[in-house]
Amino acid sequence: MAKTVARKAVRAQAKTTTNRKQGRHVYFFGDGKADGDRTMRDLLGGKGSGLAEMTNAGLPVPPGFTISTDVCAIYYREKGRIPADVDRAIADNVRKLEKAAGATLGSTDNPLLVSVRSGAKFSMPGMMDTILNLGLNDAAVEGLKTRTSNGRFAFDSYRRFIQMFGNVVLEIPKDAFEHELDSVKRIKGATQDTDLDESALRDVVNRYKQVVRSKVGHEFPQDPHEQLKMARDAVFRSWMNPRAQEYRRIYDIPDHIGTAVNVQMMVFGNTGDRSGTGVGFTRNPATGAKEFFGEFLINAQGEDVVAGIRTPQPIAQLAKVMPKAYKQLREITTRLERHYKDVQDFEFTIQDERLFMLQTRNGKRTGYAAVMIATDLVAEKLITPKDAVLQIDPESLSQLLAPGFDPKEWKSIPLATRGLPASPGAASGHVVFSAEDAVKWTDDGKPVILVRRETVPDDIHGMFVAQGVLTATGGMTSHAAVVGRQMGKPSIVGAGELEIDENAKQFSIKGRVVREGEFVSFDGLTGEVKLAKVASRPSEILQVLSGELRPRDSDIYRRFTQILTWADKHRRMDVRANADQPDQAELAYAFGARGIGLCRTEHMFFGEGRIPIVQRMILAETEADRRKALNELLPLQRGDFYGVFKGMHGQPVTIRTIDPPLHEFLPKREELMVEIVKLESQGKSGADLNGKLALLRRVEQLHEFNPMLGHRGVRLGITYPEITEMQTRAIIEAACELAREGIKVVPEIMIPLVGLVKELRDQKAVVDRVAAEVMKEKGVKVKYLLGTMIEVPRGALTADQIAVDAEFFSFGTNDLTQLAFGFSRDDIGKFLRVYQDKKILDKDPFATFDIDGVGPLVRTAVELGRKARPGIKLGVCGEHGGDPSSIHFFEQVGLDYVSCSPYRVPVARLAAAQAALAVKVGD
Ligand code: ADP
Ligand code: MG
Ligand code: MG
Repeated sequence: MAKTVARKAVRAQAKTTTNRKQGRHVYFFGDGKADGDRTMRDLLGGKGSGLAEMTNAGLPVPPGFTISTDVCAIYYREKGRIPADVDRAIADNVRKLEKAAGATLGSTDNPLLVSVRSGAKFSMPGMMDTILNLGLNDAAVEGLKTRTSNGRFAFDSYRRFIQMFGNVVLEIPKDAFEHELDSVKRIKGATQDTDLDESALRDVVNRYKQVVRSKVGHEFPQDPHEQLKMARDAVFRSWMNPRAQEYRRIYDIPDHIGTAVNVQMMVFGNTGDRSGTGVGFTRNPATGAKEFFGEFLINAQGEDVVAGIRTPQPIAQLAKVMPKAYKQLREITTRLERHYKDVQDFEFTIQDERLFMLQTRNGKRTGYAAVMIATDLVAEKLITPKDAVLQIDPESLSQLLAPGFDPKEWKSIPLATRGLPASPGAASGHVVFSAEDAVKWTDDGKPVILVRRETVPDDIHGMFVAQGVLTATGGMTSHAAVVGRQMGKPSIVGAGELEIDENAKQFSIKGRVVREGEFVSFDGLTGEVKLAKVASRPSEILQVLSGELRPRDSDIYRRFTQILTWADKHRRMDVRANADQPDQAELAYAFGARGIGLCRTEHMFFGEGRIPIVQRMILAETEADRRKALNELLPLQRGDFYGVFKGMHGQPVTIRTIDPPLHEFLPKREELMVEIVKLESQGKSGADLNGKLALLRRVEQLHEFNPMLGHRGVRLGITYPEITEMQTRAIIEAACELAREGIKVVPEIMIPLVGLVKELRDQKAVVDRVAAEVMKEKGVKVKYLLGTMIEVPRGALTADQIAVDAEFFSFGTNDLTQLAFGFSRDDIGKFLRVYQDKKILDKDPFATFDIDGVGPLVRTAVELGRKARPGIKLGVCGEHGGDPSSIHFFEQVGLDYVSCSPYRVPVARLAAAQAALAVKVGD
């Protein structure tokens, strides 16, 4: 169901894609020349454009051709039919490839074998499908044997092909094949695949063909041209498989861009001990260290390394076994890094000591590595500071603020085992053994560590929610490692001592059994695993900010600050923080916030010992009683404002007057009723019982059917002006006090939920009157601004009227989204997932600002507001203020600042710089 809807979405989008290169659908590469290049990632995908670029640079790349992403769109639009002209273009390119390769598809004496590889604009490691050794059939395999005089190799290639094709194209479960392979291995007494000889592999091939026959009811397809078409279509289909969709959802990759298909001459890493295959990075993608990093396997084909089935050898080892190929690989990859001006993640195969490059792309990295690498590249003069600002994913900066373990406590716990440190970070949680359980436990509020023999791409949802991922097999480039690093998820892979029994939901290390739910902790930077719950401590950066560590003792802190300082040079918008407490304000300031965009006064009401006073205020039957309670609150609130102003070092602070419905400060009705029944049954009476009864009466009076649309925001200030009076007094008194100390602050008093200009005017009168009174009493003059939140659609649409009285607008995009959609932000969880599955909504509009539907309200308010009051101050204080893609929109409409939670401030600084640069370039 979800699948057909998804297809429709792709088809609808496909209609809008224009024909970029008239008529051209297939792009050849080979013999030192390619039709495409690095600028054509949209059309060729990352892999195809990389292969073209490497070919043009004269690197050893097996020849081939790329079927463009346009064809993917056509495939979905035409419901799986590929038009004849595209088929003809593919046939032409097959002939061209046969010529370049000097071999023919299906030939019995010199067969051409190809890989059919997926590859979208953005790399999606392991999410889509690739088929190797295509072109083999019962006759060609004999031809391959004759040509290479290597029967073992020929039949190893054939059995791999049937297995991959069977799984990807014919949709036969992998287990069916694995089962047969294991049987033959058992019969032959072989432990490794490489122990099987030609006759054993012939047996495997026959068994595999039988599997195909019994599962799909026909013979394994023998015509290579037919095989190619089927494989091509399967790759297109893999674009829409559930894990690819999940991946795109997490990484915000649009569905409509589609995948390209690369058809490439095979080179073989499985011809014997002088061959092999590997993957690597030009720098360490976990730590950013400048070191050649990677792994390889002798006598193997590509998938073997990334699948994490055999644990490969570190690449330094290659220097010993094949020094010439190693040296060439170093030279080529160094060149590639200089060429692309970024870390390269590459794949290679060595066939009989000859090196071939199969892929290159900008490497995915942790947030930590991103900062290290970008600053190193600037120091090496490979990129400019501006390039560095553009290179780092803002989101990844938040990884640097994640906590680690307290070193003392960590040392005191015995080491259980070690694995490969695939992705740094401290992780501690309950052990679970499947992605599903990870999600279930997390939903119950329990942190989990996902423990797997190896992770498969289908585990992505479990990895996403887990605190960390721990696997028994696989290398630093296995799926678990790559995805872990990208998510910034602490990960350890290849912890070989783990014996995992996923069915029994337990593992053992040297005889010690650990069951589901027990605690495990690990350090993804060192690879150490311990069997205990360990408390974490703040990241190095936070330690510097809190004064525990000196800046000069923290390399990462200095680099982090450097990046943000560079970003600030390009940033147009200010970045403020949402903070209600002095310590939050201090932290936000330290993170680089210059101002507070939202100080929620009601949060202060929840402070220690305050709730009873607030309740007394709410319970008051008369205005006089209410004023009495408010008078008690006044000094407390004044103290809060004083602290927040001071924490912000005189930067602007926007304070919102009371916003939530009053019942939020009272106990729940049901709880009160239970307490009353208890007191009554104990035969108690008196003040306690009477108090509860009064509270219950008031709770019942305050009950609303729809509190979010009820008596809240400016409506409270209008009905109880004495609350606004008290708050204004507290604000202005605090400002006067600071003014006397020589600290100048300009408070911005913000009235929430205004939809009618007269609402604002009513409150403005109160604020101005009280402010004047206070200043007269204190004999101090302070400047203040009065403004409003724009969060009710009517307010946005009448912003010109409101701007007559408002000196600033702050977009409350949470409520604005809620009211524009009519979605309650607290209830959207119940249906959002279904909306996303059915492609009704792409993203959660409360996390990513909805440009199409809520955007026009913001644009209108900006325009109308500026018309009525040129120079009006405009900002945003909803959650969206810390979301990079939303920040791009706020840059476009020209807001003056964004405001977000203190921890998001670094992300917002970088995102705002990127937005400013993008807008400049784009316009
Ligand atoms: P992915 O995007 O999942 O990495 P690839 O298309 O890169 O998939 O292919 C998977 C593996 O198969 C890679 O390790 C690659 O090196 C290997 N491979 C792909 N094409 C060829 C080829 N023509 N010759 C040899 N190995 C290949
Ligand atoms: Mg690859
Ligand atoms: Mg609001």
